[in-house]
Amino acid sequence: MWSSEKVKLELSREHYTQKVANYANTLKQLIVSDDIYDNDYDAGEWLESQSKLLHLLQSSPSLTAQQQIIQNSIASQSKNVKRLFTKITENKLKNADESIKKLLKSRLMTQLEVISADSMQLSGIVQQDIYNVIKRQVLFILIALGVSLCTLLYGSFRLTRVFRTSLKEIKTAFEKNHSGSFQKITLSNHSDEFASIVNAFNGMNKKLSETTVSLEVMKKVIEDKTRVLEELSNTDPLTKVANRRALFERGNMELSRENRYHNNLSLILIDCDYFKNVNDKYGHQVGDELLKHICKVCIKEIRSVDFLGRYGGEEFIIILPDCDLKGSIEIAKRIQHSLSENNLIVDNKKVLKVTLSMGVSMLTDKHKSFEQLIYDADQAMYVAKEKGRNRIEVSGTHSIH
Ligand code: GH3
Ligand code: MG
Ligand code: MG
Repeated sequence: MWSSEKVKLELSREHYTQKVANYANTLKQLIVSDDIYDNDYDAGEWLESQSKLLHLLQSSPSLTAQQQIIQNSIASQSKNVKRLFTKITENKLKNADESIKKLLKSRLMTQLEVISADSMQLSGIVQQDIYNVIKRQVLFILIALGVSLCTLLYGSFRLTRVFRTSLKEIKTAFEKNHSGSFQKITLSNHSDEFASIVNAFNGMNKKLSETTVSLEVMKKVIEDKTRVLEELSNTDPLTKVANRRALFERGNMELSRENRYHNNLSLILIDCDYFKNVNDKYGHQVGDELLKHICKVCIKEIRSVDFLGRYGGEEFIIILPDCDLKGSIEIAKRIQHSLSENNLIVDNKKVLKVTLSMGVSMLTDKHKSFEQLIYDADQAMYVAKEKGRNRIEVSGTHSIH
């Protein structure tokens, strides 16, 4: 039952039991205060009160089983007491013996006492019930208050935690943003209050990251571009080997190194035989392909420390550090042999046979510059041409094939 209804019912019981007790007391008083055997005694007043009590007992509010038992006892005793009262107050008993009169009155009083005691007990039970109901209600309210308080405390604790962590995450993101790292904020605890701030921040960050280039990125781009430019400035665009500029740079570097450590330094100058004929016969494009092919063959045969560069037109130079004439001639022979074995195929069918004339020189005390070393190799290469091409000639006296 809903609590206020319960209280209402208990109060109506209380009111009812009070009335019962009052009537029981009235009935007692009407006997105690007056002599019931007196001729002037008005029995009507007592009987009226008694019938009111009976009527009240019949129109009781709903009672508990325990209360009902007591009420039934009061009702049956009321009927008994009425019977006894009626007998006592009848005229025939007026002349009865005094002791009998006294006994009957005493019995009447005893019965009325019992009714009064029962009604008091009924009232007491009801009051106890009211107390219990109120106690339960108070307990319920206290529990409800306790639960509400705990919920409130937990809610505020959670809210504080969400606020703290969210603020920390936003602060960290701002710091990272300041140092150039445009990271998105992902809140570990979602909250509507911060969602709009975070969305605005992420949007701003995205735009910044798209438009801002960090110093590191810029440095990397510049390094990459510089490397590409260096490669371009050092590379022959057709054959992809070192160009003349890079060749001389490397040559001069090797020369100063050899001067310092007094190691050997050799050089092979290569000129393609009758190259002009290739151009004339097959076209300039095939001539280009042939130059690339010669480079491939050379790269395959030289050592990793050797350096191939395009000297000009169809002429190439190989710088051979820590290599004497014998070693250089070996490498020149390998190239000559490899080229004879690997002819260039033109248009998938024509086999283009080409030969090379090579001049070899080795650094000596008389060489004061890299150009002088080239000069000697060039001289040897011309000897090779003169002697019929497809030959390797060594600067000085040596003559190879
Ligand atoms: P040899 O050396 O045996 O005396 O005869 P050669 O025909 O090779 O002599 P020459 O030095 O007269 O010819 C070299 C030719 O190489 C002339 C030039 O047109 C051609 N040439 C130079 N550079 C390139 C190039 O990049 N591509 C092509 N296809 N031809 C080139
Ligand atoms: Mg030439
Ligand atoms: Mg030539």
